[in-house]
Amino acid sequence: MIPYEVEYLRASSVQQALSVLAQNPEAKLLAGGHTLLPMMKLRLARPELLVDIGRLPELRGIAVHEDSVSIGSATTHAELEASADLKQRAPLFSLAASVIADPTVRNRGTIGGALAHADPSADWPAVVLALGAEMEVMGEQGMRRIPAHEFFVGFMSTAVAPGEVLTRIHVPLPAPGRVAYRKFRHPSSGYAVAAAAVAVDVGNDGYAWGRIGITGVADVAFRAREAEALLEGNFTDLAGKVDDIVETAFTGVNALEDNFADGAYRLQLGRVMLKRALLDALGSQG
Ligand SMILES: Cc1cc2nc3c(=O)[nH]c(=O)nc-3n(C[C@H](O)[C@H](O)[C@H](O)COP(=O)(O)OP(=O)(O)OC[C@H]3O[C@@H](n4cnc5c(N)ncnc54)[C@H](O)[C@@H]3O)c2cc1C
Repeated sequence: MIPYEVEYLRASSVQQALSVLAQNPEAKLLAGGHTLLPMMKLRLARPELLVDIGRLPELRGIAVHEDSVSIGSATTHAELEASADLKQRAPLFSLAASVIADPTVRNRGTIGGALAHADPSADWPAVVLALGAEMEVMGEQGMRRIPAHEFFVGFMSTAVAPGEVLTRIHVPLPAPGRVAYRKFRHPSSGYAVAAAAVAVDVGNDGYAWGRIGITGVADVAFRAREAEALLEGNFTDLAGKVDDIVETAFTGVNALEDNFADGAYRLQLGRVMLKRALLDALGSQG
């Protein structure tokens, strides 16, 4: 489909993008364009002005600090997949990036665009939930940080307020050593019909705890808190609890339904993906 005519501005800084957004409530940020442009072609979105932040150096790249990794929101999926720093410090990123769509999407789509759009089948929400990341958001009033578990507030809805820009994603270090990502891909788009991210940390005394992020199954990505309570204790005991953890994770979850997967099938895919991810993480070299 052919997009309609729209004004375009390539922002020279986040500050400029913020003031343009403040003056134009009908403006929309453009990062990789791999969600927004298809929506405009389908007339599901009709911004009057696109404010392109996709090439702003201040929003790009990965910086390793002593106690965190900081990822610019306009960093592409492909850059996250290839990053040697992330492979070493937070390998869940390269695991998940490698199964997003295809190389064309990975070369243009950004982590910030995906998180801000909060598609219920997107991959990054599960990852940031499992790693306990924080989202840094800038507005005219200044900067604030939002923990991942408070960021996704509903169907395609986040805690980013109108006029704000998601600027960076902060991942605490050291990140859990045993991680896994398992996804059942939609055969045409590659989006997650169901996917699970698991991150498990084991202390020197053998005591372990973990986080579980689930995407694709419900209308919003979520942390499986009650299941996480079971994913804690002596590391050597965790493998015996996998089935209980899986069952608990999906208890009471209202599954999405569509032409590809009804609710019961989607829940079952979620259980299978989580079980595989747990077995991967518990069996991996931490
Ligand atoms: C064929 C196809 C297959 C795909 N498969 C997958 C898949 O398997 N898994 C997956 O996770 N995703 C998939 N995607 C989505 C892809 O990852 C997109 O790149 C991503 O969802 C949006 O990122 P973007 O940079 O393209 O954002 P854009 O399209 O530029 O923007 C998306 C939305 O976020 C807003 N936005 C962008 N950046 C910011 C910011 N910094 N702060 C606040 N708001 C912002 C925009 O205003 C817009 O509303 C697929 C897309 C396509 C076209």
